This record gives sequence, structure tokens and C-alpha cells, in this order.
Amino acid sequence: MEKEYSKEDAIEEAKRCLNCANPQCVKGCPLSNNIPKFIQCIKNEDFDNAYNELLKTTILSEICSRVCPMEKQCMAHCVRGIKGEAININKLEEFVARYMIDDNRYAEFMKNIQESATKKDIKVAIIGTGPSSIACAYELAKIGYVVTMFEKESFFGGILAYGIPEYRLPKKVVRIVQSKLENLGIKIQFNQEYGKDVTEGMLLNDGYKAIYLGIGLQSSSMLNVEGKDLENVYSGNDFLYFVNSVNNGVNSKIDLNDIKDKNVVVVGGGNVAIDCAISAKKLGAKTSTLVYRRTENELLMEKSERELAEELNVEFNYLSLPVKFIGNKKVEKIECVKMCLGEVDSTGRRTPIVADGTNYIMEADYVIVCVGSKIDSETMLKNSKIDYDDYTIKVNEDGQTNIPYIFAGGDTSLTSNKTVAMAAKTGVIAAIGIDKYLSK
Ligand code: SF4
Repeated sequence: MEKEYSKEDAIEEAKRCLNCANPQCVKGCPLSNNIPKFIQCIKNEDFDNAYNELLKTTILSEICSRVCPMEKQCMAHCVRGIKGEAININKLEEFVARYMIDDNRYAEFMKNIQESATKKDIKVAIIGTGPSSIACAYELAKIGYVVTMFEKESFFGGILAYGIPEYRLPKKVVRIVQSKLENLGIKIQFNQEYGKDVTEGMLLNDGYKAIYLGIGLQSSSMLNVEGKDLENVYSGNDFLYFVNSVNNGVNSKIDLNDIKDKNVVVVGGGNVAIDCAISAKKLGAKTSTLVYRRTENELLMEKSERELAEELNVEFNYLSLPVKFIGNKKVEKIECVKMCLGEVDSTGRRTPIVADGTNYIMEADYVIVCVGSKIDSETMLKNSKIDYDDYTIKVNEDGQTNIPYIFAGGDTSLTSNKTVAMAAKTGVIAAIGIDKYLSK
């Protein structure tokens, strides 16, 4: 993130907002935050009401303002951006959230919300503590439900904690969100994996009336090539988990110091791939090379991430596909083949085609494969009667599955545009759906 705003910077920037009667920025916000209103409060130096305004629609201000691609969401719609620079909405939102943290006053706001809720003696279980689960838990607590979250790890935040590197999202910020939920009276149980330590049957026996599944896509896909089981070949999700371990208060399963001065090859073209490539460089890798089967035009990563990667000398090897990982116990090299692009496919991108006879070898002490992930059907949904496939849990417009008391959201409901705010939106939809179901 760029340099944070001081109070004076924030007021100056807020003064540029036109307080539009028909604010386009709100249309670009997945959570429909009342952007002009919170900005006007900043302009008037009324930071309490700026925060209150944001809390009406989100508890994730400190997260979204750091990791959401606002230049593609709210800021892309700001009318100030037509002829000049859009209002810097993310930095203003980050300022308000940080102001309340520095002042140690966010707990007070949570207490007020808790006290104004009409208490319902109805228990709801939330599985996972990622963004959609956080949003769902918050909305339900606001309207008086007794909410308990069940987290598989020993730390809070799901993908926010183990999937986003510290340089993009400091873990202390994630822990603030945990503290806010606890201040709302939400209980969080750790080391509770759904399908193993806590099951649908156990929750029903315990008197829970609805269950929300924010289980994400936790099973990493791997390239099916020779040598994929060699040492030092990891999935992107596992690698980011290791990189984030220390900051999450757990030991890394690999010696991250070993990456220093090594050649790291990252396979993929999305945000996970670029996070891995940058993290490898930050760990002191001699080279960090991203191997992608299409061209830079088809990369699915944020512009700011790409710029940081270039600054750190991450190399981009386009139109290449690994066909073999070579080594004796540990990976040492990878064999790639060059690709060319054919017709446009169903994703709107040109299909990569192997160019025969173009094989070449790259040095690789570590290979990190970022080619997507799927639902963990082995544990989480084993024996479940829920309707799902590899990537999605089928839900209706209320976020309700085929089992009426089970709702789902987050990555298993999003096929594209997987931002924190979009995931949170699915949690909000499910919370409204749960309330509708339980109010019948
Ligand atoms: Fe302010 Fe831009 Fe939103 Fe208008 S569109 S209210 S100028 S942030």
C-alpha cells in the first residue's frame, strides 16, 4: 500500500469529493458502502460518524482498503476520475479504520452495536473465519443471533491470514478484525475442522439452527507432470501458508532461510502466483521466475502487484508450459515447452497451444505451482448431502444450499472477481437468507 494518509491528508482528499447526488462510486462497491457520506464526515472532521457510516455495511474496512482492487471497483466509477484523478477511496477508508484502532476506540463501537441488537436466543454456526464468514457472522450478530465461528487453524482469518503475504496485509490488522467480532460477543473456536472435529450432526445436536459454510477452496490443484512429487515442489497455497506461518504464530513446515540465493520458479498467472514470486524474492531468492502459458495480456494479477514484482526483478517467462520436473530427490531443473495462442475460448482468452519441438530447460531449486484450487471434498464435505462440484457449492439467491438450514458463500460461490469485498458480499447475502429462514 502507498504511504498512509495523515489526518490532514485525509481531510484534504475528502474535500475533493463532489458528494454526488447519484454517486457512481457506491455502484462500484460490492458492499454498497455509503462512500460520499463517510467522506463528507471526514471532511467535517467527524471521524466517529465516518466509522459509524462504514460499519453500517462492513466490518472489513481495514482489510478491503488494503487488498481490494478499488481501481477496478468504487474508484473506477468515481466521476472525479473522468477528467483527472479519482478520489482515493481506499486510503480514506483505511485512514478511518486506523484512526479508530490508534485511538483504541473500535471496541466501544462494537459494544454499542451489540447493545442495540434485539437479542434472539437462536444459535448459528459459522464455519471458517475468512472474509465471507466474518461478514456473515457480523451481520447475524448485529441482529441479535448467538453466533459461534469454527476455525480449522489455530489462528483467525482463513485466507486473509495464510493466503495473503504480510507485505500486503499485516496480520496484526487481521487480529483487529478478530477482536472486533469478539467485542460483539461472537465466540471463536480454533482447531475445529468441519467434517472432522465438528460435524453437521454435532452442531444440530448442540442446538444450532443454521450453519454457514465459508470453507473456501482448500485443496490445491497440481500439474500432472513427471517429477511433481520431488522435494521442494509446492502448491502456491502451501507456499503462502509457510511464508505466513511465523506471523500467524505457528512454525513453518519448511526452512524459509533455505530459499536465499536459490532459483525459484513459480508456475501460473494469477494473484497467488505473483504473491509467491514476490515472497520468494523477499526471502532472498537469487532468481524468481514466473512461468505462464499465455502472454502478459492475459495475466490475472493486480497492476500494483505486477509493478512491485518488476521492481524486485521478478522475471516473467511467457508462453511457456512446464512438462517435467527433473531432479534426484529434490527438484533441480524443469523442462518447459513453448506455447502459441489459438482461438478465443469460453473464458474470453486465447487458448494456449503447444509448439512441438520447442522444449527447453530452466534451473529450479524450488517450484511453486499456482494452477488453482478446489473444494476439499475429502474432509469438509465427506458424507455430506450438499449439492456441490469441484469448485462451487450450489446455492440459491439467499445463499441457501439444497439442505435448508445450511448456507454457503465465499470462494465456493464466486466463479470470478474473487475480491475480499465480493466474498464478504456473499456472506452478507447468506446472513439475510439465514434470518429469513429462521424468522419463518
Ligand atoms: Fe465523491 Fe467520486 Fe463518489 Fe462522487 S463518485 S461521491 S466524487 S467519491
